[in-house]
Amino acid sequence: MIVYEFKCKGKDKQYRAIDDAIRTSQFIQNKCLRYWMDNKDKKVDKYALNKHCAVLAAEFPFADELNSMARQSAAERAWSAIAGFYDNCKKKVKGKKGFPNFKKYSRSVEYKTSGWKLSPNRKAITFSDKKGIGTLKLKGTYDLNCYDIKQIKRVRLVRRADGYYAQFAVDVDVRIESQPTGQVVGIDLGLKYFIADNKGNVEESPQFYRKAEKQLIRANRKKSKKYDPKKKKAKQPQSTNYHKARGRYARKHLRVSRQRKEYCIRLAYSAIQSNDLVAYEDLNVKGLVRNRHLAKSISDAGWSTFRSWLEYLGHKYGKVTVAVPPHNTSQNCSNCGEKVKKSLSTRTHVCPHCGFVEDRDVNAAINILQRGLSTVGHTGTYAWGDLPSWAVGASLLSSGESLSQESPTL
Ligand SMILES: [Zn+2]
Repeated sequence: MIVYEFKCKGKDKQYRAIDDAIRTSQFIQNKCLRYWMDNKDKKVDKYALNKHCAVLAAEFPFADELNSMARQSAAERAWSAIAGFYDNCKKKVKGKKGFPNFKKYSRSVEYKTSGWKLSPNRKAITFSDKKGIGTLKLKGTYDLNCYDIKQIKRVRLVRRADGYYAQFAVDVDVRIESQPTGQVVGIDLGLKYFIADNKGNVEESPQFYRKAEKQLIRANRKKSKKYDPKKKKAKQPQSTNYHKARGRYARKHLRVSRQRKEYCIRLAYSAIQSNDLVAYEDLNVKGLVRNRHLAKSISDAGWSTFRSWLEYLGHKYGKVTVAVPPHNTSQNCSNCGEKVKKSLSTRTHVCPHCGFVEDRDVNAAINILQRGLSTVGHTGTYAWGDLPSWAVGASLLSSGESLSQESPTL
């Protein structure tokens, strides 16, 4: 699967219709979740949820307006959350199992193979269900003409701070033959450096969020000043100026997330291009982010984005990516294997057993590579084949947008 993304151009009325479709999709997703919660004794499965869609359509006219396959997509979203929860329970994951939540701020609606039609030159798309979205112009440099319409498996409409986007999931294998480089690399993800490898190369942390923080705080303050709690109490809409300020704030955030993403992709691309095998730590980023002191830096670093792209590009260029268990990679001596205890602030690894001296992160990267080489074949939990391709895409795209030259897979 490959995803092409276009900006949509339409009239205000059409954008409101997209909002309505997104809302309906969210409604169905939540109703399906509710149905599952209320009928736990009846073993509700994927197919039961799909059937429940028809019940909802009969009961609620606005649900009936949405294309039937788009309704199914919404039910599938609910199911994937439920299935993820079951999976975590089965695997006995430590801590929270990710019990599915009701969605409040959905940003997209997904059509499958019906309910839409591309124009003859494929520069516009018309939605034919009763939501009244109509014809949207597609702005972008990609050309959909080189694919058979049957290859387009899904069309997703996404709302962002700076407008509406259409994503096309095209069923095509992206694998590209590449020459072996004879090189392998171990990568340590750090806070001081974004990444360090076993050869001693380090990449500074770009800290896009921290750099933009002042501006973000200022924009947020301006937004708050225009917020009127009395209006909230009286259930009246906030002022136009408030919504303008809110948009400005959201667009600034969008910019930071795009910067971070492009940076991650560039690093992942160069690691994949110059190596045959890339080993990295199988970090539980979610668990780490809960530590308040590290949270901002880790979220800012965008490790999970980096990793998703590493795995995707590895798949694309036929390279091996290995996620290794992170235990003691920074503590053990990569030269003699003895454990050398050090705190987070100790930046250099000095081994009292064999005299080996190396930068802390580089020492860890060497350990990671050694582990990676000894476990080839056992790729990590998030490694490509383990997830349905669609789920990988969902995480690649969760922060928003695709890159200008490269489109991530679904
Ligand atoms: Zn040693």
